[in-house]
Amino acid sequence: MKVNKAEFIISAVRPDQYPEDALPEIALAGRSNVGKSSLINRMISRKNLARTSSTPGKTQHLNYYRINDHLYFVDVPGYGYAKVSKTLRAVWGKMIEDYLLNRGPLKLVIQVIDLRHPPSKDDILMYDWLKANGLPVCVVATKADKIPKSRWQKHVKIVKQDLLMRGGDPFVMFSAEEGIGKDELWEIIGRYAGE
Ligand code: GDP
Repeated sequence: MKVNKAEFIISAVRPDQYPEDALPEIALAGRSNVGKSSLINRMISRKNLARTSSTPGKTQHLNYYRINDHLYFVDVPGYGYAKVSKTLRAVWGKMIEDYLLNRGPLKLVIQVIDLRHPPSKDDILMYDWLKANGLPVCVVATKADKIPKSRWQKHVKIVKQDLLMRGGDPFVMFSAEEGIGKDELWEIIGRYAGE
């Protein structure tokens, strides 16, 4: 997708601040510092729209970015400075859990992980929680530029195995630095956003 317009809309702290135009929403989740903001910036070809490294502790903010007046990226606060619990409520509070479980326009959760390392315990719990609650998930393994190409497949295999990825869930290898996986991820987003 060619991005002509990308705007920061709101850092929502209450459900009544969520947009009401019913455009499809694509949520991004991942541990702090995994590269979520860099991924958003790369996807929309901006250097700095999504601020890198959100403030730890601000666990209640959902950052909305509207793309081409067509869909939203919703940046969910990073997990990792707190443990992901089975209910998520202990970490993110009720608002985030309710958002993920009940938000009508939410079409896909992109779970961002680091391709260099095996998924953390929190990554695994997060994936299990999303799947247990019937959410469509795309796993994106980022920072691919940090490992040699010859080892990519080995790392991909470990990630998929450790997460016990269910057949059919999309997986994308990505690099915000080099743009690897950008077109593939847009293609997947398009499918889930109902294009
Ligand atoms: P966030 O906390 O998940 O939003 O993470 P950031 O986007 O702020 O990224 C954390 C750090 O990882 C920053 O120093 C980024 O420059 C770096 N980073 C993010 N994505 C990539 C990538 O694909 N390749 C490389 N080499 N570094 C990355």
